[in-house]
Amino acid sequence: MTIQERLLQIKSELAPSVKLVAVSKTKPASLIREVYDAGQRVFGENKAQDLAEKYPQLPKDIEWHFIGHLQTNKVKYIAPFVHTIHGVDSLKLLTQIDKQAEKFDRRIQCLLQFHIAEEETKFGLDYREAEELLTNEALKNMRHVQIAGVMGMATFSDDEVRVRYEFGHLRSIFNQLKETYFATDPAFKEISMGMSGDYKWAIEEGSTMVRIGTSIFGNRNH
Ligand SMILES: *Cc1c(COP(=O)(O)O)cnc(C)c1O
Repeated sequence: MTIQERLLQIKSELAPSVKLVAVSKTKPASLIREVYDAGQRVFGENKAQDLAEKYPQLPKDIEWHFIGHLQTNKVKYIAPFVHTIHGVDSLKLLTQIDKQAEKFDRRIQCLLQFHIAEEETKFGLDYREAEELLTNEALKNMRHVQIAGVMGMATFSDDEVRVRYEFGHLRSIFNQLKETYFATDPAFKEISMGMSGDYKWAIEEGSTMVRIGTSIFGNRNH
């Protein structure tokens, strides 16, 4: 299959309500252009400098998502154009995004990243930490960020029961936050979960955004 056929194959499996983020990390602009020409407009990158380098080489109607861990000192590279940042897990980062977005009079959509997998990682919030963040007074004055939902990564495993359980956990976190903090805010609506290996399960567990790289672009050479 060509890259364009793979894109169309995946798109045909997604309900219109599920947004496809084509994860183009490590791939050159020329390849991204091929996927763009097949109709894809939403792309995801996980390194701020790579994204800042690709942005000027590609059409301006691309909706760019940042999907990895973002260091506060790198926000400035992507603030002029990034649409959504998926990995927000601290007030410090959110504060910096707000500050940089203000310079360009923009509002950047942010997703709170939760740690749902079995694997140990220093990234991602738990529920209590999210509550602390969401009840912080400083948040009320941030006009250049829009908290639009949650994001998480399941354990890298083919154990369907476990992976579905973790996705279900993220959905219940979303529901609880929605009810408690965003009941009257229609912008809080996204559950970003599902990658090449597990997106079908993620969708069945309530995903609204899948982040798919390998199944579209092929393997990455590390
Ligand atoms: C790389 C990456 C993906 C895509 O992974 P694939 O297995 O290639 O589909 C999704 N989300 C995040 C956060 C990533 O870093």
